[in-house]
Amino acid sequence: MSSILPQNHAIRSSHKIGSIQRRLSTNRVKNISRHFLLPARVYCVSSSSTSSSSSNIATIITTKPSPVTEPLTYEPLTKIETSTAATTGSTRSVLNDPSLKSTWTHRAWMVSGCSTVLISLARSAAGAVDSQTWAGPLIAGCIGYVLSDLASGIYHWGIDNYGSAETPVFGSQIDAFQGHHKWPWTITRRQFANNLHALARAVTFTVLPIDLLCNDPAILCFVGVFSGCIMFSQQFHSWAHGTKSKLPSIVLALQDAGILVSRSQHAAHHRPPYNNNYCIVSGAWNQILDRSKFFELLEMIFFFKFGVRPRSWSEPDSEWTEETEMQSISASH
Ligand SMILES: [Zn+2]
Ligand SMILES: [Zn+2]
Repeated sequence: MSSILPQNHAIRSSHKIGSIQRRLSTNRVKNISRHFLLPARVYCVSSSSTSSSSSNIATIITTKPSPVTEPLTYEPLTKIETSTAATTGSTRSVLNDPSLKSTWTHRAWMVSGCSTVLISLARSAAGAVDSQTWAGPLIAGCIGYVLSDLASGIYHWGIDNYGSAETPVFGSQIDAFQGHHKWPWTITRRQFANNLHALARAVTFTVLPIDLLCNDPAILCFVGVFSGCIMFSQQFHSWAHGTKSKLPSIVLALQDAGILVSRSQHAAHHRPPYNNNYCIVSGAWNQILDRSKFFELLEMIFFFKFGVRPRSWSEPDSEWTEETEMQSISASH
């Protein structure tokens, strides 16, 4: 579990892309006042009337957001890329950024992770054939699928709210997840193995020993399904950021059926107050956890026990909130 949901947001860690984003922000801030700001978070940007002093240009004030019903998409950025690439050339660099591409090492870890999951399932099936008991493994597999969604939510909540880039073991993931909240569309640009390889590596190290040591078909089926769903949760997450017109119809059907986390459900996670809809496998637990205020209870316990405040209690700063003004710029072109 230590590497669940990891690499997808490493863009924040990329100084190169970070500087590109900052340059884009600086370029567009001069024109921002004439654009209508659209989605999740409303940025009121005041510009200096005399543009001679760039230090006075950008005073960004976050205000309470208007409700947004549409899921997050990356389509607007594509328009921006088309319209601004000629002048800046910077977004082209974002698209071609090697940190978003899969390497052979990433692919090797994917082969390893998928093999590990398949070994679990194959050994479970073989055991079920031998013992002629299918009900146990099948039920265990269903439980694995259901619990993987819960596990994804708890882990996501933890790294969204606690620690920092300097936190041992989880630091890079914490940093990356905050980057994801700032530039959520980048997950759809990340290539498959690049997005999933860290999870595949974690699955290999944790599940392979179980594959070798365990002979119980039910346990093997639980482990196979659970770890498989966790490993692919980043792909489900990426699809949740996709646009309806660009997603495969089978994915849309699974999202609509609630088998995979829906775009609208995950979009709510990227809107204030940023403290709900953490689960990213099926999303089945989201309503249960949010209505029961499960995470808020955990946050209270952590606060009174350890004096640690979750990030979601504070008004998120500019390092955390989505840069939605890019969409408003695209609307003007
Ligand atoms: Zn998050
Ligand atoms: Zn997301």
